[in-house]
Amino acid sequence: MQTYEGNDLQEINKVAQRIASGWFVDLLYAWIWLRKVSISNVVRLTDLRCVKCGLPFPSGLSINLDDMDVRVPVDEASLQWTYTLRRPFMMRGHEVKALTIGQQRWSVLDAAKAGAGDSLAMKLAIVRSSVLGSPDAKDLNQIAVVDSDLAEMSKVDFESIASTLDATALGPQLVVDLQCPDARCMFEFQQALDWRYESFFVISGQ
Ligand SMILES: [Zn+2]
Repeated sequence: MQTYEGNDLQEINKVAQRIASGWFVDLLYAWIWLRKVSISNVVRLTDLRCVKCGLPFPSGLSINLDDMDVRVPVDEASLQWTYTLRRPFMMRGHEVKALTIGQQRWSVLDAAKAGAGDSLAMKLAIVRSSVLGSPDAKDLNQIAVVDSDLAEMSKVDFESIASTLDATALGPQLVVDLQCPDARCMFEFQQALDWRYESFFVISGQ
């Protein structure tokens, strides 16, 4: 039996696989909840800068996780929707005119991490993870979509799906509204909350 720090490695891998195939939004919610119960609901914001003038924000700013909006689905049917393509394309030998779009799995993070810093690669990972198939052919109803399936998709459709996913993302809305402290700038912008383990689960963040 292979072990890691005394634990059965095979068991660990099984759990990791179960997590990777879980719904992203559910696990994100659990992640935030874990942060709250293990440390506190207050997260200190560090290294903030105005995106317009570059001025650093004063330290000591924090947000309360209980104040974050959580977008919940209206009903089960709303978890999945059909996107009508402006430019139909060929997928696995079928012409597809529409795509079925649904919720992402937690594994989308692996793909996003692989393309970290590359916003197009990350967007591609999110779109790919959300496309569940196409209603236009029986054997495309529910498939594991890979990059080559979407290679023929037009840019206009790709961007349209990506921005709709962004605007309708369920779960905790991990963005912070900020305004530049410089009276001459006062630029208002939104910044995504950094919820990576290293910055989110630090005790000094209390
Ligand atoms: Zn500014």
